[in-house]
Parts: sequence; C-alpha cells; structure tokens
Amino acid sequence: MQKYGGTSVANIDRLKKVAERVVKTKQKGYNVVVVVSALGDTTDELVKKAHAITPNPPEREMDVLLATGEHVSISLLAMAIEALGQSAISFSGPQAGIVTDTAHTKAKIMDIRADRLVDELKEDKIVIVAGFQGESFEQNITTLGRGGSDLTAIALAAKLGAERCEIYTDVDGVYTTNPRVVKEARKIPVISYAEMLEMAATGAEVMQLRAVEYGRNYDVEIHVRSSFNEEEGTVIKGEDEMTEQPIISAVTFDTSQAKVTIQRVPDRPGIAASVFGSLAEANVNVDMILQNVSEKGFTDISFTVDENDLVKAKEVVQQVTDDLDAAGSSYDNGIASVSLVGAGMRTHPGVAARMFSTLAENKINIEMISTSPIKISCVIRRERMEDAVRALHQAFSLEKNPT
Ligand code: ADP
Ligand code: ASP
Ligand code: MG
Repeated sequence: MQKYGGTSVANIDRLKKVAERVVKTKQKGYNVVVVVSALGDTTDELVKKAHAITPNPPEREMDVLLATGEHVSISLLAMAIEALGQSAISFSGPQAGIVTDTAHTKAKIMDIRADRLVDELKEDKIVIVAGFQGESFEQNITTLGRGGSDLTAIALAAKLGAERCEIYTDVDGVYTTNPRVVKEARKIPVISYAEMLEMAATGAEVMQLRAVEYGRNYDVEIHVRSSFNEEEGTVIKGEDEMTEQPIISAVTFDTSQAKVTIQRVPDRPGIAASVFGSLAEANVNVDMILQNVSEKGFTDISFTVDENDLVKAKEVVQQVTDDLDAAGSSYDNGIASVSLVGAGMRTHPGVAARMFSTLAENKINIEMISTSPIKISCVIRRERMEDAVRALHQAFSLEKNPT
C-alpha cells in the first residue's frame, strides 16, 4: 500500500515520477494499491472558491466539490502508469467501497467493501484509489476531514492485509519538529502510535490524527517517507515493539485554534455540562478548557476550538450566554499552542517545570496549560510561536541524537 500526498503530485512531472515509483514496486513482485491526494493545493483552492460564494457553504455540497480534486489525480495517475506499459485502474472512494457515516466534511469510515479492488488485483492490475472520500449510508459523497487521504490508505491497508502502508510526502519522515520552522530538526527513525497520535493531535500535520488512530487500532505498520528520494523514512508502530524511548520525542505547534471566553457564569453544578454539552451537540470539538477561580459565585470559562468551527461555536455560545445569564463572551484569534510530546515523560518528572522555565526565560506568557501522560501543551500568543518552538527544541536537545 502506498499513499502519495498533494505535493508529491503537484505537477505533471512529479505525477510521472510517482507513476515510475509505483511501477518499480510492482516489478518487484508486489500487488500494489495506491492512494492519491488531489494535485498540489487543489483542495485549498476549492475551499476558497466555495467561500467566495458563501461564508457557510452547505456541507453536503462542499463534499461533492472537494471530492473532485482526487478524481483528477487518480485518472491522471492511471494514465501515467498505463503510459509506462503497466495496467492500472482507478476508483473513486465510493467505487472502492468506502462506506462512511453521514458527518459531512469529517466522515468516519464504517465499512470497506473491497471485493472489486481484490478482483482487479487478481487481474494483476495496479489499483489506484482516490483518497479522502467515501459514500455515506444515504448515498451521498462524503470526505474524511483534511489530510484524509492518509486515513483512506491506512484503512485500505488494514482491510486488504497489506504488509505495510507507505505514506509518501514532501519530507523524509517524521521530524523532532516541523523542519520548515527549525532547520536543526532531526528525523525520528521509529516512533510509537501513542506519540504520533499526540503529535498529530497537537498540530503536526505530517500524518492525519484519525489515520494514526486507525493504524493503531488495526496494527498497521506505517512508513512515512519522501517521494523525492530513496531515504529510509520513519516507522510508526506499537510501543511494545520498541526498545527504548527518549524522554521527549518532538515539539509540535498549532495555530488553527481560537480561544473563547464566557464571562461571569454562575458557579454551580451542571454549568460546564450545559456549555460543553451544547457545543458537542453542534459537533464542535473543544480542546483545552480553563475554569477560573470563582469570585462571589461567578466564574469565567475559557476554552479553545478549531478556528473553522468558530462560526458554529459563536452561535452556541451566544445561546448559552443568554440561557445562563452570563455577562458576555469574547473571542481571541491570536493564540497558538506549543506542545512537548514524549513517552519517557511518564517516568521522568520535571519536564513541565523545564518547559515553563524555558518559556519564561524567553518572556513568553502562558495563557492555558493542558497535559496528558505523554504530552504538555501551552497556549501562548501566536506571534511568539516560532520563538517558543525553537527555544523548546533547543532546551530539550532535540537536534542531537538521543543518547
Ligand atoms: P501531504 O500533502 O504529503 O499529505 P502534508 O503537508 O499533509 O503532506 O504533510 C507534510 C508536511 O508536514 C511537511 O511538509 C511539514 O512541513 C509538515 N510537518 C509538520 N510537523 C512535522 C514533523 N514533526 N515532521 C515532519 N513534517 C512535519
Ligand atoms: N486533498 C485533501 C486535503 O488536502 C486530502 C489529503 O491531502 O489528504 O486535505
Ligand atoms: Mg497530509
């Protein structure tokens, strides 16, 4: 199983290179299934077009629109492979039997009816499947959330019992932080699902979060590598198969969140349940939550949401503010979160303290904190994000090989 991301097929020359790589794999005697993303920035451009028409496009139509990107790339790739003398056949997500729930723009895969793909593989064809899309029970086209081609590939790898799932992208593998921000970042040879999950959840877009989750649940060994060279990439696998783990594996950051504050909410049981219950009903994911100390029976509640969900969140918060008789609400787009991820944190105290003092030394104010057993995240001002990432990467010596 191989998956090629948007940058790997950004133009016709690159697409031809991908075709060559696929053919080479086939010639080594493998049955090859290829998942491909839309060419270059196609998906972003389609989103922009929709927003030029209306700020809140119907999600069903959004999915019909976005799915076209991957249609273009599967057909072109099939042609490029045929031009090299190998037989290939392309399938859209619905044709490949990818059945999803009805949550448009972030649908979940419920079933894969892969008989047709298996038949074509038996015919010795290279099978090409459009990433990021499926068909709901209601026979609508759905998409699997941004970066969703990763999920298509991993789910198909699990279903077809593939030996491994190779994710080809524009970097050599998973790095200790985004190599575009810190040039000293180092490639991580092996990383556990648990750490990769935290990295994806805290902003490392190199792998889609839900794809890693699926890989862990079905124990699919994932190889992240470059489509431009032959370097060994990063292997993502179960923690129990790993020999040693560094204290800190990576620094991640996320600038796609916004902070919402509801002011002077009555401090009594059931309030948080009502606020976050209403947000969940509206399908708004909440990340960090902070409830301030109560003063005279009132408190402020702050939380972060995905910026894309801000319009929906505002509607809910307005309603909740009225219902609870809170003083008002405010929204802050100028935040970023920076996180440290590492399985060794569990057994090494002091990581949080060192993170906070590193930020303090750099005069970076911490606005919110959240932790998991293998992750610490801080919300800071967005304009200090890159400084924070560099400082933390250096403070935890991530540019050096782990000793
Ligand atoms: P594709 O189009 O192949 O799916 P993505 O843009 O989704 O590629 O993911 C690759 C990008 O992820 C890289 O170009 C890099 O900028 C970014 N990235 C963020 N964090 C990391 C990290 N820790 N290691 C490697 N790449 C990272
Ligand atoms: N083309 C989709 C996106 O840009 C899916 C993907 O690339 O994985 O999000
Ligand atoms: Mg991606």
